[in-house]
Amino acid sequence: MRIDHQLLRRQTANLLQAAGSREVEAKTVADHLVEANLAGHDSHGVGMLPHYARNLKAGTLVPNRAPAVVSDTGSFAVWDGGNGYGQVIARDAMVWAIGAAQKHGVAVHGLRNTHHIGRVGSYGEQAAKAGLLSVHFVNGNSGPPKVTPFRGREGRISTNPVCIAVPGTQHTPPVILDMATSRIAIGKVRVAYNEGKQVAENTLIAADGKPTTDPGVLYQQPHGAVLPFGEHKGYGLALIAELLAGAIAGGGTIQPKNPRDRGIVNGMLTVVIDPARLADRSFVDREIDAMIDYMKATKPADPSLPVLVPGEPERIARAKRAAEGIEIDATTWREIGEAARSFGFDFTGN
Ligand code: NAD
Repeated sequence: MRIDHQLLRRQTANLLQAAGSREVEAKTVADHLVEANLAGHDSHGVGMLPHYARNLKAGTLVPNRAPAVVSDTGSFAVWDGGNGYGQVIARDAMVWAIGAAQKHGVAVHGLRNTHHIGRVGSYGEQAAKAGLLSVHFVNGNSGPPKVTPFRGREGRISTNPVCIAVPGTQHTPPVILDMATSRIAIGKVRVAYNEGKQVAENTLIAADGKPTTDPGVLYQQPHGAVLPFGEHKGYGLALIAELLAGAIAGGGTIQPKNPRDRGIVNGMLTVVIDPARLADRSFVDREIDAMIDYMKATKPADPSLPVLVPGEPERIARAKRAAEGIEIDATTWREIGEAARSFGFDFTGN
């Protein structure tokens, strides 16, 4: 199924309104999801709608929530999302952080108890658009943990993404490194499982400790786990994200004494910095331009695969999918249709 992104935005916003969101919230969440599809990250796009529908019905996702301010001391703030749509709460918290960083040079905020915040890179892009740099650490502290620590064979953490965004210049687009700390996104394992396919080697471990390419190890007993990327280094980064986003930001980690039956819950610790407070902006821009050009001029090992910089694959996907439409697999399309019907909305109608 290939669908134009504008139509997909409209239909997604209509579905979210049918599911209880006011128009502005429905549009914000729909734009975020479709932008994730456009950027090539289908695991964080409209395929999440059936999960959202389940969580709405279970009461673990609450529409029309504004972030509650826990504290605000100028350049530090903590927000509680009250299980509202993370895409709205995190975006609003970033509006505050951008204003505070412009005023004070730096802003730090903690986000607690938000439902899924989606593609973290979108918040980095928000900062970069304002000429600021940002660093984001995210944890997921509800649901069964599916990523094992290095040397482990049991799930203990989530896919804990980390995003670092450097603003662009007149010549260079922003550099957005936005990545899960697991070898593979859970959404990609789910899609492979639904389609009866295997996943890539060195991504999963079975309950007996042996490597496997069978996505069923996440969905059938006895459970296996997803491996962290980069062995001990990726595991270390995942654990740091858990501690910063879960302990330091105050929403709680995924340690077993905390409740895990709250649908999808993200915590995030964000730091936004005005680079002009550190070095002359024209120097910074010249160095960014020169360094990125230097990277991209590297001779590729395989001539058909040029050297890219973080954020570039998403820009390439965005241009292609905006022009050609977004491909949605049959299982996902059917599941979205079912979720929509459960709110009395025909997703496939126009
Ligand atoms: P990925 O592996 O596709 O990309 C990771 C990063 O590497 C990106 O910044 C990308 O631009 C860069 N990259 C990719 N290929 C490159 C190349 N050839 N050269 C240079 N840079 C390159 O992403 P992922 O780890 O699968 O994460 C997917 C998305 O899932 C992210 O947007 C992340 O925020 C999101 N996510 C969200 C949650 C949540 O709980 N909200 C959890 C996990 C992941």
